[in-house]
Parts: sequence; C-alpha cells; structure tokens
Amino acid sequence: MSDATVLVVEDEENILEALRYSLEREGHTVYTAVDGEEGLNLARRIDPDLVILDVMLPKMDGFEICRILRGETDVPIIMLTARGEEIDRIVGLELGADDYVTKPFSTREFMVRVRNMLRRARLSDNVESSSAGEENLVAGNLEVDLTSHVVRLDGVAVDMKPREFDLLALLVKNSGRAYSRDQILQQLWGHDYYGDTRTVDVHVHWLREKIEPQPSKPQRLVTIRGVGYRFDR
Ligand code: CA
Repeated sequence: MSDATVLVVEDEENILEALRYSLEREGHTVYTAVDGEEGLNLARRIDPDLVILDVMLPKMDGFEICRILRGETDVPIIMLTARGEEIDRIVGLELGADDYVTKPFSTREFMVRVRNMLRRARLSDNVESSSAGEENLVAGNLEVDLTSHVVRLDGVAVDMKPREFDLLALLVKNSGRAYSRDQILQQLWGHDYYGDTRTVDVHVHWLREKIEPQPSKPQRLVTIRGVGYRFDR
C-alpha cells in the first residue's frame, strides 16, 4: 500500500523530518504536527490511514491523543516512546495503540513496521468485505462472528479492538491448541515484527477482562505454563 495518508505528530524536528522523508519516498502523503492539539485537530480533519504519535508532546501528550482517537476511529496508531520507558509501551497498548517503537530507532526498521501496519489495515478491510459465509465460531455463551467482526457474550456485543478480535478468533478457531507467544506474535503482528512477547500478554489480559467471568481465574483463555496460551471450550 503506497499512496496512504500518514499523520506524524512529533516535536523533535530531526525525527519528524527523517520520517517525512522516508514516508514520502515510499509514495505516501505526509501531514505533520509538532504539538498535541494540532495533531488531534489534524487527525480529525484529514482522516489519515496511519497515525505516528510521539508520547511526549507540548500541549497534549500522545497518550491523551491516542485515547481520544480510539474513541472515534480504528485508524492504526504507532506510538514513539523514549528508551527504557517500559510503562509507556504498556500504557500505549492499553489505550489502543497498535504498535510502539522505542527511540532511537532505525528508519529502515521503522518503515518495515509501517508497511506491515498498512498491509494489515488493508487486509482487514478486505476480510470484512469478502468473508461473507464464513462460519461463526461458537463456544458456549461466546460467539465470534467472523463475518461482521463482532464478539457476543450471552448474545450481547462486546467491544473489541481489532487486534483483540484477531487474537480471540485465532485461539477460538483452534480451540485446544496451545500457542506460544512467539507464534501469536508471528500470526498477528507479522513474521518480521520486532516487538516483545509481553505485547501478547497485554492483549490476553484485556481479552480476559472482557470474556472471562473471573479474569484472574481464567477458565477458557488459559495460560499454559512454559508454552503460552490456549482457548478451552
Ligand atoms: Ca517529544
């Protein structure tokens, strides 16, 4: 997917210009903002295909922007965090960011992530429009509707982020099979993803909060010690 519209919100000029250069070279249209308020306004105005969001920004920080945008749109969000700020990554993912990159980063590696992100966004659009007739996955009171991308618990729709849906669909579809964190990362985030496996744990944690009666004592989305996770019907 070249020709995407990408918004970069970053107050460090050298990083901003490096990203602009690389993105434009791949044929994308790039909009930039150097503070949080401007970034949020621009995101609403241009309806981008991808948002690249620094955490530390003047006027409004990246977390706040991420939280607000997530309430309004499914646009993929990559957050840029300072080195060693583990907590930033976790908070960012919890707020609905799709990926995070720690500064300093290599532009080449970063562009791989951008390509993956845009490809997945396009794939999931295609899946939504072409999977009519694909079966619903039903496990007790849980229903995963692959056609409409809706999860229901006791018939009531449960709000899911796209990546949570994909993870749940993968595990339910392959009930009884244990997946390692690395396998899950590869399936959902792509084989050239450089992230760490705690990304998977965070998403499992969030899924449990949504589908398990007692999230701290999961009955269905179970941890397999030394391996990873498994869905039990
Ligand atoms: Ca900054």
